[in-house]
Amino acid sequence: MKLAARVSQVSPSLTLAIAAKAKAMKAEGIDVCSFSAGEPDFPTPEHICSAAKKALDEGKTKYGAAAGELKLRETIAKKLRVNNNLDYQAENIIVTNGGKQSLFNLMQVSIEYGDEVIIPAPYWLSYPEMVKLADGKPVIVDTLAENNYKITPQQLKHAITPKSKLFVLNSPSNPTGAVYTPEEIKALAQIIVERGLWVVSDEIYENILYDGVEHLSIGAVSPEIFERTIISNGFAKSYSMTGWRVGYAAAPVELIQAMTKLQGHSTSNVCTFAQYGAIAALESSQACVKEMVTAFAQRREVMYRGIQAIPKLSCPKPYGAFYLFIDISATGLKSLDFCDRLLESQQVAAIPGIAFGADDCIRLSYATDMPTIEKGLERLEKFVKSHVS
Ligand code: GLU
Repeated sequence: MKLAARVSQVSPSLTLAIAAKAKAMKAEGIDVCSFSAGEPDFPTPEHICSAAKKALDEGKTKYGAAAGELKLRETIAKKLRVNNNLDYQAENIIVTNGGKQSLFNLMQVSIEYGDEVIIPAPYWLSYPEMVKLADGKPVIVDTLAENNYKITPQQLKHAITPKSKLFVLNSPSNPTGAVYTPEEIKALAQIIVERGLWVVSDEIYENILYDGVEHLSIGAVSPEIFERTIISNGFAKSYSMTGWRVGYAAAPVELIQAMTKLQGHSTSNVCTFAQYGAIAALESSQACVKEMVTAFAQRREVMYRGIQAIPKLSCPKPYGAFYLFIDISATGLKSLDFCDRLLESQQVAAIPGIAFGADDCIRLSYATDMPTIEKGLERLEKFVKSHVS
């Protein structure tokens, strides 16, 4: 069959592909050090699993409302009011199949042919593809390592045209680990309001912060920006629930209604009993999140120091999420070649920066255990020293 142009122009998800390859190699008995997908290595906390098991036992196994269980939407709205200073109610929330589907739905309901979506690079690889799948035009703005890979207000201003509709903000950032300061967020918010743009704020890493840096949700800056903000978030990263596929969007009611209509014809509701696990995640003690973040912080130190010690590699210090975004240009290799050779010769899986719009870089996820980190760093050093002249 001749495939539709809409899908032919889209690249496959390299994060998922490389992570799957690393898992398959492990299953074959190969000793792989995988720094590929951003997937916490911890089990989902017991109380969250128990809540989902209880929901199963209670027969929460039927279709639910397309927008999500009311109790979960109320709990999410409360979390956004209390933790993020965002004045949402249940009607402002849609529960989606991971944070990813919230973004996909948003692009589908808001972007029309020719609409421009401004995306700072390096970006999470699915943003531009989702824009293309909605017939929109991704407008990529390259940021600099010297500026910790953050877009400046001037860069945003220059990227705006009469066709600009949406700006994609992701702080803490995947793949760079950058975190925008409250002042930087406020400066971007001012431009968005002045120029009549919308902003989607992907806050999936909001809890994974280091060295006391603060996360400010852009919608909390002023009532004007709140009206133009869509929040995307989910449970995967904070609660180690990657396979559960529970995420959400928060936005003005008309947008949520449109996304719900779309979801009603695509995936319907998110797995009903999984949503009860998500309620428990938000309602229970957040100590489990703290514990995981403490472990990520230790790993970040070891990874960052390890990379600094390897000649020809460098990266800015990340302040959030669990990735290092490493400049490999001094090795003379481009990112795909680097990652292929690294996997083949040292069995270390990394994601080529080309997937994130930066071919001179690679991404390493340190959401993995310390022995893998130590062994992987040794292998990476050996690779750089022996395979790269
Ligand atoms: N978001 C994670 C990552 O970037 C998981 C894979 C994906 O959805 O892209 O590694």
